[in-house]
Amino acid sequence: MSEWLRCIACAREYDALEVRTTCECGGLLAVARSALSVGPALFDQRRASRHPIDQSGVWRFREGVLSADEATIVTHPEGSTRLYERDGVLFKHEGENPTGSFKDRGMTVAMTQAVRVGARAVACASTGNTSASLAAYAAQAGLRAIVFVPAGKIAAGKLAQTLAYGALCLAVRGDFDAAMRLVLDASKEFGIYLVNSINPFRIEGQKTIVWELLQDLDWRAPDWIVVPAGNLGNTSAFGKALVEARDAGWIDRLPRLAAIQARGANPFYRSFTESFASRHRVAAETVASAIRIGDPVSFDRAVAAIRATNGVVEDVSDEEIMTAKRDIDRMGIGCEPASAATLAGLRKLRAAGVINASEQVVCVLTGHILKDPDAVSGNVVEIDPSLDSLASVLGSI
Ligand SMILES: [Zn+2]
Repeated sequence: MSEWLRCIACAREYDALEVRTTCECGGLLAVARSALSVGPALFDQRRASRHPIDQSGVWRFREGVLSADEATIVTHPEGSTRLYERDGVLFKHEGENPTGSFKDRGMTVAMTQAVRVGARAVACASTGNTSASLAAYAAQAGLRAIVFVPAGKIAAGKLAQTLAYGALCLAVRGDFDAAMRLVLDASKEFGIYLVNSINPFRIEGQKTIVWELLQDLDWRAPDWIVVPAGNLGNTSAFGKALVEARDAGWIDRLPRLAAIQARGANPFYRSFTESFASRHRVAAETVASAIRIGDPVSFDRAVAAIRATNGVVEDVSDEEIMTAKRDIDRMGIGCEPASAATLAGLRKLRAAGVINASEQVVCVLTGHILKDPDAVSGNVVEIDPSLDSLASVLGSI
């Protein structure tokens, strides 16, 4: 096999086709592989190709993602998102994926793995974006999709997508963390293939956010990559992607990671302030529903990512998030609230002197503006159908 699973706690190894969510010891699993012998020249050549798996911003990097037969790959295709420059800051917009969030990058890999292991049904707990992505990819693969969401706590756009793609949508009375515990039990009890970010194959797909942004920058590493931090799947994936890219010689130095949490959902930040001496769990509450998570499942992998990249963790208030969101929206880019935590965090880290003004920074925007239509500022002005009425609103132009 080109890949296998390795426990990040005890290093025990398992076959890549063995279906399990954690190690016997309870530790999280990661995908391990032998050294990569391909690199930027091949990836750049594929980017110009019209072949669907080369067009995919995930499968373009397939040697570092998953060795699957091309016929089993479930791809929309996804990725190939744009990198925008505004006011000296770069924004990698993962909201431009097929279902409007970065989740498609991990989902194409997890769904491909589900097909490889012969799964009939797939499930996840989700704050919304994962469920939309799961529903779309399961529909494409012809698998039954079951999503567990916290009742009454999911943004309208995400729920609409999940239902439209035909998933069974279960609203669990409780918060995200309760939904997560239930789906973990359900996967063991009913043999449903679990595609939450605890699934190590999701992480392999999410790594390509970083690889593609490095490719966008012609394989010159930026100084910082800023990422919203909730369940910590991206923080984990980014750390793994950077270390692998450096070890394979694709880049010559590691950027630093800055993981940004909402203040009302900041267990990782609290641990960071005590050098990760203890793990925190909080009752999460924030306007940024995609990162409203009090007990992040990828905690241990994310600690490794922050340490490996000399990274930092910061938290920002809902007010700071919404100010940043309005600013990103008014740049003509737009994003969902959790994504804006990046710009809010960047501002705070610059003010504190952690990130300096001359350093190159990439903020990763994780979700599309229409994911959360209720989180938009501005008012519609109602008028009579007359020029007089219009003139009174316009004033002098
Ligand atoms: Zn173990």
